[in-house]
Amino acid sequence: MQQNLTPLSEAEMWQAFTTKDANYDGQFFVAVRTTGVYCRPSCPAKPLRKNVLFFADCDAAETAGYRACKRCHPRELLLPAEALAQNVVRWIESNGHARLSALSQALNVSPFHLQRTFKRVMGLSPLEYAQSLRLQRLKSVLKPQQLSSTAAIYEAGFNTPSRVYEQLDAIGMTPSVYQKGGRGMVITYSLAECALGRMLIAGTQRGLCAVYFGDDDAQLERDLREEYPAAQLEHHPSNTRTDWTQTVAQYVAGRQNHDSLQKLPLDVQGTAFQARVWQALRQIPQGQTRSYSQVAQTIGQPNATRAVANACAANRVGVVIPCHRVVRENGDAGGYRWGVGRKAELLAQERL
Ligand SMILES: [Zn+2]
Repeated sequence: MQQNLTPLSEAEMWQAFTTKDANYDGQFFVAVRTTGVYCRPSCPAKPLRKNVLFFADCDAAETAGYRACKRCHPRELLLPAEALAQNVVRWIESNGHARLSALSQALNVSPFHLQRTFKRVMGLSPLEYAQSLRLQRLKSVLKPQQLSSTAAIYEAGFNTPSRVYEQLDAIGMTPSVYQKGGRGMVITYSLAECALGRMLIAGTQRGLCAVYFGDDDAQLERDLREEYPAAQLEHHPSNTRTDWTQTVAQYVAGRQNHDSLQKLPLDVQGTAFQARVWQALRQIPQGQTRSYSQVAQTIGQPNATRAVANACAANRVGVVIPCHRVVRENGDAGGYRWGVGRKAELLAQERL
């Protein structure tokens, strides 16, 4: 669109309009009295000369009472891509969806132009933006202090939110139970003796949600309460899920292989990033270790070593999600939530 310094004559404008000359798009606008619509010069509309008048810009045409044509979308000529994208963002945020037909009508921009421009500016489609927004809202009612922002999820390599759900599902976590502090969860737990000392095993109807090791039953119970402050906790002295307890106890005693642990159902909560790390930990074969940076590479985030270490530290299902198999670059055992002594014992036992 070029700016003309000398005003165009009406004859020239009419000539441009009848020949549908797109070179004139943006230089003037054609309003049609009989329809109440205004167009760009290249619009295929063919009104009679006597019904036509010309305007220098869209605002002037609209001030005079004309609406933008739905065929040629004259406003698109004026709006920079960034401004259009911002309008789309605002519209999606207030309407909660990104139906192209509705967006196109509201913003007076063709669906094609809208979709293409938005994607070019924002790097994702209007639909994907609406989905990420929904996820963000979902997260805000779930466990906000643990969830990263949508931006972080995209940074973490999720192209679309549906991939987030796949990851959550893979680790045994669904949004329905992902309530703040475990609200709505009924958790039963029991305490038992094992090769590593005292062990607390907790679970829901769906699966294990905590496996802790320690020396002091009261401390283990406090840890569980801290982790799930809003959940309903029920102590079952006589192991309601004896099979889970036995499987873990036998494993740490070196009497059962890793497969039996892998079969235990999990019901753990975490961020999408944590879910990916925990899933990667479960792929480390028994008897082997990985460094934090190797795990970071496995999940496709080579620079996220520190975040991987944090996700390992946040694991609350000890042994079943084998965070003890992640060690320092130099081979040192590194930290362990339940004590480096227990970590070393587990690693030694697994190498046998
Ligand atoms: Zn038109």
